[in-house]
Amino acid sequence: MAVRPVLTWGDPRLKLNSAEVGDWTPELEALVADLFETSYAEEGLGIAAPQVGVNLNIAVIDVSCGEDPALRTVLINPEIIREEGTQSGPEGCLSIARIHEVLERPQKVWVKNRRRDGSWEELVGEDLLARAYCHEIDHLRGRLFVEYFGPVKRQVLKRKWDKSRRD
Ligand SMILES: [Zn+2]
Repeated sequence: MAVRPVLTWGDPRLKLNSAEVGDWTPELEALVADLFETSYAEEGLGIAAPQVGVNLNIAVIDVSCGEDPALRTVLINPEIIREEGTQSGPEGCLSIARIHEVLERPQKVWVKNRRRDGSWEELVGEDLLARAYCHEIDHLRGRLFVEYFGPVKRQVLKRKWDKSRRD
């Protein structure tokens, strides 16, 4: 297991659409282990493969940040099939470290997800978990959470982020 370098806001590779995962391989299992390791090292709640430069539909989530192994979730070719309600709360991203901004998300989502063996399961997440599902699945479509904001607000966040990297 290894912590991999995380691509940051502005890197064109974060804007790519990721590819569907085919057969599960030892390389993919190693990638998943590295993703968890990287997320924990950065004290994140999850990370998507494109953030470490691998454009595949894989992401990991652990809203306990390593405290509860039962909460480790691996998303493979995930797709949101239903959403309900709205929630408003701060969101952040390992590719835009230290920037947190309030963003509206569904309160509850249903996700069609592939298991490693190729079968499908349905995951349901509420509150923070629903937010994490939306956030990571956005990464697989080449979308960062700051892109939900208008150009002016995005500029402000960009300046704040640039400054935080210099300090
Ligand atoms: Zn992110």
